[in-house]
Amino acid sequence: MHRLQDAGRTARAATGLTDGLLTRPVRRPFPRNPGSYRGRFAPSPTGALHLGSLLTAVASFLQARSRRGEWVLRIDDIDRERCTRSSADAILRTLERFELHWDGPVVYQSQRIDRYRAALDSLRQAGLVYDCSCPRKVLANKPIYPGTCGQGLRVESGPFAARLRINDSSIRFDDCLHGPQFQDLRTSCGDFIIRRRDGSYAYHLATVIDDADAEVTEVVRGSDLLDSTPRQIYLQRLLRLPTPSYCHTPVVIAADGRKISKQNAAPAIDGLKPSDGLVTVLEMLRQHPPPSLKKAGVSEILKWAVDRWDVSQLGGITDLKEP
Ligand SMILES: [Zn+2]
Repeated sequence: MHRLQDAGRTARAATGLTDGLLTRPVRRPFPRNPGSYRGRFAPSPTGALHLGSLLTAVASFLQARSRRGEWVLRIDDIDRERCTRSSADAILRTLERFELHWDGPVVYQSQRIDRYRAALDSLRQAGLVYDCSCPRKVLANKPIYPGTCGQGLRVESGPFAARLRINDSSIRFDDCLHGPQFQDLRTSCGDFIIRRRDGSYAYHLATVIDDADAEVTEVVRGSDLLDSTPRQIYLQRLLRLPTPSYCHTPVVIAADGRKISKQNAAPAIDGLKPSDGLVTVLEMLRQHPPPSLKKAGVSEILKWAVDRWDVSQLGGITDLKEP
């Protein structure tokens, strides 16, 4: 349906960037092997790429290219209040600068609302969704939704959030870096929201549909999402979507112990020389690049990294200190 199969397009057509931003076609330096591995990078355009998101991008890129697989790019711009087109374009330009070339057209979540609506409708028809009128302040300090509105709404007037019923909810999966995982959704979150009161679709719903439509075989992303993976696997089962493999890489934390993010004004990496930035990221990813590699060009550094990529160096590590 929304398969990313048109990998032969030029960057200008594929990225959706406005004319003039790219001056050359994207080169795909590694052979493409359809039908095998497909990875993805899915940043939220709420600001420029920071070191933590670059690390995730490089890890997922190397995981895909070292398997002679494809690497697709999705812009998770479903949160319209916080996401901007200019941030999305800036992220694409940064990936280009680091020569992290993606396959196929860029997918924008904001253009896929019909898919999310159809999935919600099918869940609702199956009796798995109910409206929820609970005000946020009533639910504050309640990490597990008590199921109040599952017995009938207290308030008749909307807008309502849409909640997914948790039935059989013991989820097990193996993470490539963190091993066997288990979560009982009833005791960890309860019936959870898949569409908010403002009408926007929740990340969990959008991401499982997008990953399935793009035929992603492995999701490589930050370990801050490890805890929410069981909710996504639960949705995949209900929607009869395949479950990809999961690999949760370390998040980068600042000296004060907080995860660096756009929210706490992590310095953008735009000032960084790409070769220096890549070698720093490879050091953080425990790939042990030789110091002389900094003198190499970006494509040479990436070739070195693809040839030697060993994701198991990150086994069990949930966070890394910013250098
Ligand atoms: Zn409620």
